[in-house]
Amino acid sequence: MTSSSGSEPRFIGIDLSGLVLRASIVNNSGQIEERRKVKIVADQLVTQVTQVVSELRGLNSNIEAVGIAIPGLVSRQTDRVVASRDFPLTVREDLHAEFMTATGARVEIENDANAAAYGEYKVGAGRGSRDMFYITIGVGIGGAIILDGKLWTGASGFAGEFGHITIDTEGIECDCGNMGCLETVASGPSIVRRANERLYRDGTSSLSRLAINKNFTADDVAHEANNGDDFSMMMIERTGKYIGTGVAIVLNLLNIERVVLGGGVMDAGELILNPIIQEARRRAFQPCFEATQIHAAKLGADAASIGVAMLARDAAA
Ligand SMILES: [Zn+2]
Repeated sequence: MTSSSGSEPRFIGIDLSGLVLRASIVNNSGQIEERRKVKIVADQLVTQVTQVVSELRGLNSNIEAVGIAIPGLVSRQTDRVVASRDFPLTVREDLHAEFMTATGARVEIENDANAAAYGEYKVGAGRGSRDMFYITIGVGIGGAIILDGKLWTGASGFAGEFGHITIDTEGIECDCGNMGCLETVASGPSIVRRANERLYRDGTSSLSRLAINKNFTADDVAHEANNGDDFSMMMIERTGKYIGTGVAIVLNLLNIERVVLGGGVMDAGELILNPIIQEARRRAFQPCFEATQIHAAKLGADAASIGVAMLARDAAA
């Protein structure tokens, strides 16, 4: 299906998070018109990006720019990936130039959480706000700050590392080297670890039966919680309290107008959103809490590809 609305510019947004390449043609209003999904082969990443860009350009001749959202630390100042746990091969000086040469297009690269934040800000749950804090909770926990319409990325490009704020000063060691980071208790894998640690004390949980046959996931905990399993509900509620504690810190620090929460763990819906809001209310400075709106994200898995396409559009302006 090629768009019928004439020569209006289009943008390609590519999201590389979750080891899957999601590419979309996005129009000027942030709507997806075409999408492609390819399983990533790490050492063929540039070729895979080039192929999908070329395929999408064949469908629409008005593509003005390409945005690529990468899981890892990305410096917009130098257009370089500084570190990436998922794609260590992207950490090289010439990656951005390679993308430009291979696709023949203007290319912007951005961290995947920043890209998703920008998508929610422009066309999702952040729409209508001026300042927004975005949180994504999945395998890891990321964050992004948008002030006055622009991503605020800090002195060297890495602001918003919400997952690495300290929640428990006596907590377990985190990948980042610190102890007791939010990510060590509230990410998907951390929920599973905490559930496993307690499960032997509660043999009546439907998770106990699941755990006999397979390794359960955070999705399973959310699913069982939604089916009314007390133990799973308690696990999700406690996770919400940890996240809400982090949100209270953000509210006190930024007095931010809106907080948007996305990522796989938020698929638990109200079961997790409600304790997040309650805990933020309990812990934040009251005037800061009252000035904010806390919402679940709206764009789901499309957030980063839409956001990075919009970033590519706005980078030229
Ligand atoms: Zn950490």
